[in-house]
Amino acid sequence: MTDTTDTTTDTTEPDGPFRVVIDRDKCVGHGRCYSLAPEVYVDDEEGFSELADGDTPATPELRDKARLGAVTCPEGAISLVPL
Ligand code: SF4
Repeated sequence: MTDTTDTTTDTTEPDGPFRVVIDRDKCVGHGRCYSLAPEVYVDDEEGFSELADGDTPATPELRDKARLGAVTCPEGAISLVPL
């Protein structure tokens, strides 16, 4: 039976404003997100992903970049949580 109580996952394409959450336990640091969307994601000193400028992308362009990083993360480490 599928657990439908967890609303923080499987939200990679919300229509409205959202908060970006990077799961540091899942990130392996290969850099796809910050290579494709450096406006939102950057690498820390160890190569793991972190947010470039806050967790709530403010413009449609930044939200598109945040979505791009989230959907292309092969580890599923990035969640977009609707506000
Ligand atoms: S694509 Fe995913 S696993 Fe790779 S650095 Fe970004 S968040 Fe981490």
